[in-house]
Amino acid sequence: MKTISRMTMVAGTKAAAAPGSVRARAPLATPNRIGNTARSAVSQMAGAPAGRVVVSRRRDLSLNAVYQDGQKLDRPLRVAIVGGGPAGACAAEECAKAGIETFMVERKMDNCKPCGGAIPLCMIDEFDLPSEIIDRKVNRMKMISPSNVEVDIGSTLKPNEYIGMTRREILDDYLRQRAEENGAKVINGLFMGMEQKEGEKGPWTMKINSYEGEEKKKVDLEVDVVVGADGANSRVAKIIDAGDFDYAIAYQERIRIDDDRMKFYENLAEMYVGDDVSPDFYGWVFPKYDHVGVGTGTVINKPAIKEYQDAIRDRAGDKISGGQIIKIEAHPIPEHPRPKRIEGRVALVGDAAGYVTKCSGEGIYFAAKSGRMCGEAIAARSKQGTQMIGERDLRTYLSKWDRKYWPTYKVLDILQKVFYRSNAAREAFVEMCSSEYVQRMTFDSYLYKTVVPGNPISDLKLLWGTVGSILRSNALRVSQGPTVTFGRK
Ligand SMILES: Cc1cc2nc3c(=O)[nH]c(=O)nc-3n(C[C@H](O)[C@H](O)[C@H](O)COP(=O)(O)OP(=O)(O)OC[C@H]3O[C@@H](n4cnc5c(N)ncnc54)[C@H](O)[C@@H]3O)c2cc1C
Repeated sequence: MKTISRMTMVAGTKAAAAPGSVRARAPLATPNRIGNTARSAVSQMAGAPAGRVVVSRRRDLSLNAVYQDGQKLDRPLRVAIVGGGPAGACAAEECAKAGIETFMVERKMDNCKPCGGAIPLCMIDEFDLPSEIIDRKVNRMKMISPSNVEVDIGSTLKPNEYIGMTRREILDDYLRQRAEENGAKVINGLFMGMEQKEGEKGPWTMKINSYEGEEKKKVDLEVDVVVGADGANSRVAKIIDAGDFDYAIAYQERIRIDDDRMKFYENLAEMYVGDDVSPDFYGWVFPKYDHVGVGTGTVINKPAIKEYQDAIRDRAGDKISGGQIIKIEAHPIPEHPRPKRIEGRVALVGDAAGYVTKCSGEGIYFAAKSGRMCGEAIAARSKQGTQMIGERDLRTYLSKWDRKYWPTYKVLDILQKVFYRSNAAREAFVEMCSSEYVQRMTFDSYLYKTVVPGNPISDLKLLWGTVGSILRSNALRVSQGPTVTFGRK
């Protein structure tokens, strides 16, 4: 990965690859480099090959000027994106493509974000992802109820339809490289904080601990606009006082199983529901490159997460037995958007904004999409980086986002409340999944991210069937005594 990891590096020298980093593609011929000293401006050298940057030790006065929103600039707009996950990389790509001077700050270039790595089919086309970064094409799923009733789903899929399984270290690296190829300057460093010394219309001074091997350097970077793409624990969100969200804690073990067992999961993912694996979410076994990801999550009983993880391993049973745990990972998953997602010239995207859907816990596509939409708004409203933008301009991204995705979030929120609330409801949910109509609607909505118009007669049958399933399951629950619960509640 041709990252910018040394702020004092001179143009033309080769950046060393971060140890252990995964190279998705060959390095660029002319990598974007930043040679910078504290408070000096990084500027593009006139006539230099595309992507080359040189150090300007002269303090760029125009950078410190106070610009009103909409005012014409005598230099390109400068945008800093904090975080190089899907949200940050896609925001950076859009800004850089528009000719905006774009900086992407990422603390760990080989970051392996704790994640199931499942992405919808539409993301592959929409984000032009090469097939090499898709480890597995899942076209069969098993939904497994609390009483271990298995329902196979996937029969409604067309031959070329699948869920893509990725490793995040590969996907993120690819997206970051593409942003860089389009002109974004990648800074390998930890964003520490930022301030506006000249008031709310002045530039942001970003404090960054930059990394070059073992070396750590404090660097100031001055920019006009900041995009917070730094994930669920976003520091940018804290700085703009964006407020909190409820969150789930998700836990995953990467388990290497033998070839025969791996063959079983070749194109198959499993979802387990039940009080034992989670009181309010689901447990999963997802096939990855050479192992399976086995995990679960919960909002309402976080201290018991390891007990739920034991339970999901037990449920998968012989299918993963003898496996070797090669990695354990845990991370918060936002449950809803933050109260504030924009403040002045700062916008939040991806997990930092809180864009993970309930019920499925899906966030990769929404992160990439929100990053791209925010980048597009910055490019359009700044007239390709030639004029200053303000809060009203950034809000165009927000209103477009909310119009497009609010119904999706709402529907999944309701589904989670109805079907994950008790074992009886979960039995009904799994039973309902045996309906071809439900499978087609669910897959189409997931794979293509469109709310699929239903057939009124089938919808009525479905409603009737659902009520029937819930009643049957409740009756069963009463006749069998109380549901078994797990962990401290
Ligand atoms: C266990 C688990 C399983 C999941 N499974 C799935 C799944 O199968 N499918 C799906 O769609 N979603 C899944 N998700 C959700 C998904 O992982 C997130 O929604 C997605 O990663 C959000 O992308 P992002 O770019 O917004 O943030 P992130 O991916 O979190 O990226 C943030 C980036 O910012 C960097 N960063 C953070 N702070 C700083 C700083 N101060 N300075 C510099 N850099 C910084 C980080 O290193 C990171 O690279 C899962 C989540 C978890 C926890």
